[in-house]
Amino acid sequence: MRITADAPLVHCNTLRLPARAEWCASVGTPAELAEALAFARSRALPVCVLGGGSNVVLRERIPGCVLLMRMQGEDVLEHGDAVVRLRVAAGTCWHDFVLACHARGWYGLENLALIPGTVGAAPVQNIGAYGVELAAFVEEVGAVDRATGERCTFTRADCCFAYRHSIFKGELAERTVITDVTFRLPLDAAVQADYPALRAALDGAADPTPAEVLRAVLAIRRQRLPDPQRLPNVGSFFHNPVLERARFESLRTRHPDVVHWADGERVKLAAAWLVEQAGGKAMREGAARVHERQALVLVNDGDATATEVLELARRIAAAVAARFGVELRIEPAIYG
Ligand SMILES: Cc1cc2nc3c(=O)[nH]c(=O)nc-3n(C[C@H](O)[C@H](O)[C@H](O)COP(=O)(O)OP(=O)(O)OC[C@H]3O[C@@H](n4cnc5c(N)ncnc54)[C@H](O)[C@@H]3O)c2cc1C
Repeated sequence: MRITADAPLVHCNTLRLPARAEWCASVGTPAELAEALAFARSRALPVCVLGGGSNVVLRERIPGCVLLMRMQGEDVLEHGDAVVRLRVAAGTCWHDFVLACHARGWYGLENLALIPGTVGAAPVQNIGAYGVELAAFVEEVGAVDRATGERCTFTRADCCFAYRHSIFKGELAERTVITDVTFRLPLDAAVQADYPALRAALDGAADPTPAEVLRAVLAIRRQRLPDPQRLPNVGSFFHNPVLERARFESLRTRHPDVVHWADGERVKLAAAWLVEQAGGKAMREGAARVHERQALVLVNDGDATATEVLELARRIAAAVAARFGVELRIEPAIYG
């Protein structure tokens, strides 16, 4: 394995920001991971882990050692009558994995198709889409402690999964490298098709099959979301804010149209609606702008910098706070 100094990262992040890493290693095996962590430890360098770079904002220079997670492969641990359990390496492409499971009759992940990035990053923010979250299918997450190089495992309960959150974004942020994820997938074809946009795309099908759900999810995403290969972006830039019910009711008296849905005892607001109402769609900062169809997606029109992207995000959040008194939180991790 080569550990390169002053390495360009423009092709390692889907916003195509022109960052450079002080040091960079492409990690394809557990031995290479151990070697890269030992290198960082020997020079007291901070470690930054990247999968597909589809949920990060990289500033100009990333200090320390960037690890590009490229470990591949899977082990089927159990193929029972009702479930299959399999361990998948962190560098595996998430979308390819979803398609491969579906093709083998291992169901459940269809709603999460076309989410860019790697299997190893999926637990970090508990990826979710169209009414399904990764957490439902995780049995265990395997990781290595960045400081000691020791292997550790986390059960689903240990992971503290929540909306776009887990222990890997909280208490253990920047402390582990996820090396593998063990999934438990059902073999029956029960699907989750209640999400309104998905239900609409399924055109009222009474009992949709996993294949129909997959087709609908692919169609919705291709129609609604800009392809980062053509128009660099990191998907939703802001979380949907979650409010206590009393605070929501007070907001609703002032803004009766506020788009929302129940989230247990609390209420989740549609961040895209808030941004749109606050005039976000017209905002631009240098080559960074808000996507014309998706108010939550900030795109790079060519030579945007991290400073421009983050300034644009700050202005949007300020406009939403001024109009609604609601705080927007940024979803991607910011490095450098
Ligand atoms: C067009 C588009 C649509 C998207 N749609 C969705 C969506 O519907 N739902 C959703 O939840 N997300 C969505 N995302 C966000 C993103 O795809 C996911 O968060 C994805 O899991 C990020 O994977 P990645 O490999 O690119 O991670 P990266 O961007 O490389 O990293 C993200 C974070 O995870 C950490 N990380 C990555 N790999 C590891 C590892 N092996 N060990 C420890 N830490 C690690 C990084 O340090 C960083 O903090 C979308 C993004 C885009 C561009």
